[in-house]
Amino acid sequence: MATKLPHTDVAIIGLGWTGAIVASELTAAGLDVVAIERGPWRDTARDFSIASVPDELRYVHRQELMLRTAQNTVTVRNDPSETALPMRNWGSFHPGNGTGGAGNHWAGITFRFQPQEFRLKSYLQERYGPTAISDELTLQDWGTDWNEMEPFYTAFDRIVGTSGKAGNLRGQIQEGGNPFEGPRSEEYPTKPLRQPYGPVLFAKAAAEMGYRPFPVPSSLISEPYTNPLGVTMGPCTFCGFCTNYGCANYSKASPIVNILPALVRRQNFTARTNSEVLKVLTDSTGKKATGVLFADTSGEEWEQPADLVVVGAFTFENVRLMLLSGIGKPYDPSTGEGTTGRNYCYQTANGVQLFFDDKNFNPFIGGGAVGMGIDEFNNDNFDHSGLGFFGGGSIRVTPIGAAPISYRPVPPGTPAWGKEWKKATVKNYLSAMSIGCEASSYATRNNYLSLDPTYTDRFGRPLLRITFDFPENDLKMAQYCTSKVADIARHMGPRQIVENPMKGHWNTVPYQSSHVVGGFIMGENPANSCVNKYLQSWDVPNLFVVGASAFPQNPGYNPTGTAAALAFKAADAIKNIYLKDPGPMVRT
Ligand SMILES: Cc1cc2nc3c(=O)[nH]c(=O)nc-3n(C[C@H](O)[C@H](O)[C@H](O)COP(=O)(O)OP(=O)(O)OC[C@H]3O[C@@H](n4cnc5c(N)ncnc54)[C@H](O)[C@@H]3O)c2cc1C
Ligand code: SF4
Repeated sequence: MATKLPHTDVAIIGLGWTGAIVASELTAAGLDVVAIERGPWRDTARDFSIASVPDELRYVHRQELMLRTAQNTVTVRNDPSETALPMRNWGSFHPGNGTGGAGNHWAGITFRFQPQEFRLKSYLQERYGPTAISDELTLQDWGTDWNEMEPFYTAFDRIVGTSGKAGNLRGQIQEGGNPFEGPRSEEYPTKPLRQPYGPVLFAKAAAEMGYRPFPVPSSLISEPYTNPLGVTMGPCTFCGFCTNYGCANYSKASPIVNILPALVRRQNFTARTNSEVLKVLTDSTGKKATGVLFADTSGEEWEQPADLVVVGAFTFENVRLMLLSGIGKPYDPSTGEGTTGRNYCYQTANGVQLFFDDKNFNPFIGGGAVGMGIDEFNNDNFDHSGLGFFGGGSIRVTPIGAAPISYRPVPPGTPAWGKEWKKATVKNYLSAMSIGCEASSYATRNNYLSLDPTYTDRFGRPLLRITFDFPENDLKMAQYCTSKVADIARHMGPRQIVENPMKGHWNTVPYQSSHVVGGFIMGENPANSCVNKYLQSWDVPNLFVVGASAFPQNPGYNPTGTAAALAFKAADAIKNIYLKDPGPMVRT
């Protein structure tokens, strides 16, 4: 029997970017908020000291900041006909645990999605004809648009201090920025980072080929910055221990750097850490959330009653909690009915390695989001007529820092160990680089999330089951975009290039991406989506599910800028619409 805690206005599940943003906005509006976080409290000064953070073994290989798979994991399979097996090591995904979530060990690339993305299906049908989208794909519009999103992207940029150069300022294309971005209402809060040699060389070659390179928008800060919550950050030192690590320098934006220091000073905010939410509780009608049930580390159960429940537990756990709580109808790929779990998408990671004889890139200098990119082959920025696929990728060089254990670039044919391998690593360590292409992932009927019928967690609850494989559309796109990357690589004049387009079946062993989206998607109506444009559940109006679980498909960009903008949007709607008239905010 769970112990009942005092009532609160809002219970938030998870204290990553999305949960922290909603907590910050709602406490500022005077609501009492209790945030319940599965992992421990994390703090830069104590947890990410400069003396202990640069430890590749601890953070990359032993995955210090990630969820333990013994606590919770997912099961995986490629096809609905297969039996899924549990992941026991995080090859892919690298989910966060503890305050800050994956926002502690993320890379920090902070793109906005392009305007056409929010109405992708309609846009492609208008441009290429009503039957142009293949039957394989289940693309969808988001139910919102650029004009509604832009103020919330700006709100996130101000919190983060995003560094970059505007490419489109209020409709005017700007020299040196990304000309394909939607019109921004203001310049980036901080100027672009200085660029290491690899990105400089790439940008020069891209410009010579007629493309328009721009500095990758980054949550790594280029100059001192104080955000609207009064939190100050310092400039990045390119230390190279960035992705998979916490930043000791207060230079990489994260919820624990940019939001929690202000949040913990508010009397109406409470955080309960080391507490795992087991389900969202509803009343007898199933149409009203009454709070959440959670367990502490000893297994003792607690009930937190609340007027509003906000779920910000990352794509996988957002969807799992909805399925475990009986909210929404589970998606069935054989009939296409049901919405919870549908349109699960990933990211299609591609790249080209370049081996030079006469260059020294000093690859240990870098950071998760330092680099230059081009967008000519992303999304629908090029004509797809006759290509047989839609989508594309963001092409960029982002030297994250060449860690001593993992970074051993050697050309194909090099022995995997021994004297020849050692010689090759010495020869190539300083003079190799790579160009990445982070590309779109489009939804299909058979890629979805559901509860696993076999495997359970330590509380006996079913694990989340991922059914996913790369669609034909995305594999063709990967080949095409990688060939464009290879053209730029050749123009840079290396001794040898190696093309690595995504190919074959999806598997979880190599790290590909942590960008998993969909499963509890937003849309225009409850027939094909789970939440409305305010991230409000169609079925349970006092429940909001925030995060990339709301994306109906994934463009060729990193997701967090958009997940965060949606969290601001949901909080804004709660404050300005819902509280005045509690109930569904979109009626169909
Ligand atoms: C290595 C890596 C690099 C990345 N790089 C980039 C990048 O460059 N750009 C980009 O845009 N994105 C990047 N991402 C993705 C980015 O980190 C996520 O999009 C972002 O952190 C998601 O925020 P969130 O609030 O939705 O989820 P999270 O950050 O995962 O936070 C969710 C929180 O909920 C907690 N939680 C989960 N379940 C429960 C439960 N049942 N009860 C209580 N608490 C729970 C978790 O412990 C966690 O703290 C990267 C991710 C990783 C792992
Ligand atoms: S590279 Fe910069 S932002 Fe990243 S951890 Fe180092 S100092 Fe921090």
